[in-house]
Amino acid sequence: MRSWIPYGRQTIEEDDIAAVVEVLKSDWLTTGPMVEKFERALAELVGARYAVVFSSGTAALHAAYFAAGVGPGDEVVTSPITFAATANAALYLGARPVFADVQEDTVNIDPIEVERVLSERTKVVAPVDFAGNPADLDAIVSLAHGAGAIVVEDACHALGARYRGRPVGSISDMTVFSFHPVKHITTGEGGAVVTDNPEYYDRLILFRNHGITKNPSKMRGNEGPWYYEMQDLGYNYRLSDIQCALGLSQLGKLDRFLKRRKEIVQRYNEAFDDSRLVRPSCRPDVEPAWHLYVLRLRDPSARRQVVDYLHRNGIGVQVHYIPVYRHPYYRGTGLNTHACPRAESYYQSGLSLPLYPSLSDEQVEAVVAAVFEALDQTPGWMNR
Ligand SMILES: *Cc1c(COP(=O)(O)O)cnc(C)c1O
Repeated sequence: MRSWIPYGRQTIEEDDIAAVVEVLKSDWLTTGPMVEKFERALAELVGARYAVVFSSGTAALHAAYFAAGVGPGDEVVTSPITFAATANAALYLGARPVFADVQEDTVNIDPIEVERVLSERTKVVAPVDFAGNPADLDAIVSLAHGAGAIVVEDACHALGARYRGRPVGSISDMTVFSFHPVKHITTGEGGAVVTDNPEYYDRLILFRNHGITKNPSKMRGNEGPWYYEMQDLGYNYRLSDIQCALGLSQLGKLDRFLKRRKEIVQRYNEAFDDSRLVRPSCRPDVEPAWHLYVLRLRDPSARRQVVDYLHRNGIGVQVHYIPVYRHPYYRGTGLNTHACPRAESYYQSGLSLPLYPSLSDEQVEAVVAAVFEALDQTPGWMNR
């Protein structure tokens, strides 16, 4: 058996390691010069005024919802086809996640469904750029703003993507990224919020550090040189200098990483032109930053056997995602979310193939061959 090929993994090179080692030898391990350097580089790359880094993408989502003023009684509209964190962060603040169904082709939240669930309680609309393919952002921003809601885009899959010529990060009120090892660039764990809005920026900075400020111009009092003020209830959601050095080094490689991901996607698309399969699609006005390659089976009843076959053969396919409202915790909350039929049908048929920059051409061909073996060995498939 060949060695295990995961669906995603980091790409760490010698200069990334050297950048981290340099910080380890310096005066600052956390909240030193690397934090701001990484933030400035990130903001510039995505065309935003401010970037604030956090200890994870989840912490960044929590902070963005906090900055948007989300609280008890509010609703956050999002996609059911996402990692649980996008909805969980609403629960952290006592708000209610509301799921809007996805478009069949892109698996992104459908603006028509968003419009159906908007209410006067909607504080935030949180589109997810699924698989690296930007959601229909202009439509979502205009609907949300029309309803007095703020757009927090979960772009954890989409660093480096563009929508109608504009970079993801320059479009929504706030945009969230993750630097988990399977994402486009990594800091081990880490995340960020980018925004053009100085008020959101101030609240993000406060939230990251216990709600504490040491900035004299922001303090209500001042009792001496030791003085600082806790003005809100925040967390320790800081990202260390060690991690920011890694992030900065990785950020310089984003173009190359995205190019290699695109090459692999093109090869998969060419190989999987087959009547039994549905390949991922994107709209003509976006330039995706492919994070996942989700292949769909026309016959969903074959999915389990295909996944099992691939796993037995060392290929770590995964399913992204179980619709969030299906999880036992969500069922137990009594949130009474309505089912999303297109999300359900997508969930039954999709599987994510390995996709990451260090995947070799030989590995890509091995994945392609194994997928066809799996299809051909699925009993009854050819007769359907
Ligand atoms: C990875 C991810 C997150 C959370 O990021 P972490 O850094 O793992 O906390 C949130 N939303 C989506 C869509 C993600 O893929």
